[in-house]
Amino acid sequence: MTSLVPIDQEVSAIRRRVAQWREAGLRIALVPTMGYLHQGHLSLIHHALTLAQRVIVSIYVNPTQFGPNEDLDRYPRDPEGDRDKVSRAGAHLIFQPSSDTMYPQGAQTFVETTAISVPLCGGDRPGHFRGVTTVVAKLFHIVKPDVAVFGQKDYQQLLTIQRMVTDLHMEVEVVGAPLVREDDGLALSSRNVYLSPTQRKEALRLSQALRRIREAFHTGERDPHNLLATGRAVLASPALQLEYLEIRNKHTLQLVDQKVSAEDRIFLAARLGATRLIDNAPLGLPASLDNLHQEMH
Ligand code: AMP
Repeated sequence: MTSLVPIDQEVSAIRRRVAQWREAGLRIALVPTMGYLHQGHLSLIHHALTLAQRVIVSIYVNPTQFGPNEDLDRYPRDPEGDRDKVSRAGAHLIFQPSSDTMYPQGAQTFVETTAISVPLCGGDRPGHFRGVTTVVAKLFHIVKPDVAVFGQKDYQQLLTIQRMVTDLHMEVEVVGAPLVREDDGLALSSRNVYLSPTQRKEALRLSQALRRIREAFHTGERDPHNLLATGRAVLASPALQLEYLEIRNKHTLQLVDQKVSAEDRIFLAARLGATRLIDNAPLGLPASLDNLHQEMH
């Protein structure tokens, strides 16, 4: 039986522990999550373990990154299961703060990026990235990790956090880890649990659309409008409301309107009933080279 990792809830407690690790010369990684952990999260932990000697997983459902009509109240939670998974994955500590800790009474300080968080999810979820950068800045100040690992599943979030770290001269290296998918292609997400069996089947259209676009790119199509039309055809279904399907530069997120290149990435968000799913993929690599499934260690 694996012994369970300790959980710190208070800032003073985690600071004491991290200070001891630092005095012992250990490199520290942070993996921020909202819990209800799956293989995608665990792959971040495995990656973090290759970058540092101590890995801290934070679990906090951050209210400021949810809009008023979003799923904050029903966001899935499984604290015991999460602790078990984090322990088995080999991480060293869970940081699970309360909202009173993360947002002290009367809190009025926010961190906000501009251009990078305007398109894509920024349009559909006003205030979302402001909530993300604010909470991640707080976590970085509390934990002071040497390195933090984020998933490319939330690619715009990754770029937004890298921008914040650069702009504020934060002393942390931000690393992006590959998107983990189910065997059939669906991107793993805590929100997949909301899907009915029918919606789960329909959700496959997302990764299939990305795949079809990449195939067209690899057979020589360079016109973004033709590529996107190919994707939209796959996504056409009464069960699915497309929020966006776009090709953007993978560094700046600038829209590609003329001729696409291997520097570009496809971004997609869609709703199945009340559930909003996102996915993305590089144009440059053939889909056949994707790491579609990562084993649990
Ligand atoms: P969340 O708990 O959804 O806030 O996600 C926490 C971290 O896990 C973020 O850095 C996500 O990008 C990452 N993540 C979520 N799903 C996946 C996935 N399918 N593959 C890789 N990383 C993921």
